[in-house]
Amino acid sequence: MTVSPDNKLHPRTQAVHHGTRRSQYGEMAEAIFMTQGFVYDSAAQAEARFQGTGPDEFIYARYGNPTSRMFEDRIAALEGTEDAFATASGMAAVNGAMFAMCKPGDHVVAARALFGSCLYVLDLLARFGVKVSYVDGTDLDQWAAAIRPGTRAVFFESVSNPTLEVIDLKAVADLAHAAGATVVVDNVFATPVFSRAVEQGADVIVYSATKHIDGGGRALAGVICGTRHFVREVAEPYLKHTGGAISPFHAWIMLNGLQTMDLRVRAQADAAAAIAAALHGHPRLSRVIYPGLPDHPQHDLTMRQMGSGGTMIAIELADGKNAAFKALDRLRIIRISNNLGDAKSIVTHPATTTHQRLSDADKAHLGITPGLLRISIGLEHAADLTADLLQALEG
Ligand SMILES: *Cc1c(COP(=O)(O)O)cnc(C)c1O
Repeated sequence: MTVSPDNKLHPRTQAVHHGTRRSQYGEMAEAIFMTQGFVYDSAAQAEARFQGTGPDEFIYARYGNPTSRMFEDRIAALEGTEDAFATASGMAAVNGAMFAMCKPGDHVVAARALFGSCLYVLDLLARFGVKVSYVDGTDLDQWAAAIRPGTRAVFFESVSNPTLEVIDLKAVADLAHAAGATVVVDNVFATPVFSRAVEQGADVIVYSATKHIDGGGRALAGVICGTRHFVREVAEPYLKHTGGAISPFHAWIMLNGLQTMDLRVRAQADAAAAIAAALHGHPRLSRVIYPGLPDHPQHDLTMRQMGSGGTMIAIELADGKNAAFKALDRLRIIRISNNLGDAKSIVTHPATTTHQRLSDADKAHLGITPGLLRISIGLEHAADLTADLLQALEG
């Protein structure tokens, strides 16, 4: 039995109930259907199943699975899209969305400030004959100049990593739609909690569920949200035949993550706002970047687009790499790692880790300076995190 969609419910309620499929045992918690295959009652039923599946019919876990489908239905309801396809990782979702829709000769416009692996996927598209133009995502004139009639897609992170620039989703979507292009948004930093991407014109929204959806840094997963046509007719055929499907066990972890996501992410964002305010103006910091601070260049846009500054902060130590490393090594609560959206606060030195591969010129262009630290605020008390950062900056 499937709990039927009811879009009038609050997201927090949907995140607990929506999409639940109960077996004949009436189990309360979502079951893990740890099965790759499904048994047919007859040869004729197998034949019929291969001609097309109904909502509670499955063939093979690479194509779909009841636990995975619960996660897909629940995240689609939260995001406000008709459907979703769950993937083995966030990158499987980015790769799946882009490769499923593009063919040689197509044109894609992308923001330059992207997660390294997303840039790699765009380079791969170029290798297969897709023309990719890069723009400064916050400069609408550059989007307008680069998008041309027949552009197949635009791709960007709504909040960029690691410098937290916020892209005007509605304005870019309007330009893209006027040219007939599909708007694909990597919405990880915005999180599904603060996402109004569909309302603002996104056609396809991809998440690394590894981040805030899991919320505990346990498992890799991703998801592509979009129209039923895009998800089932464009993305699914590509993903089911190339092996990007999520594990039912990971889908179960993500289903549990969704139940607490709203509470977690709001608490993390509140803490991030308090910590950013406490660090602002610190004499050892040349920049405190937080979209929720009034001096952030896209502050008004952020509040309009997300209603929150989110869970990530970037700070820049005025004295460069040595000062940044010293501060990292003095931290007692905040751990040095490279995930984000975890219950545990995490700090990253992008220039030497996540963005190491970029040339010095590209790093400088993107604002990834030697003193820059990216902080993912977790579920610890904001006062403890602020004290940890302040004592680390004293050194
Ligand atoms: C982490 C991340 C990804 C990739 O997700 P994985 O689950 O690690 O594959 C893609 N885009 C952004 C913005 C991310 O932060």
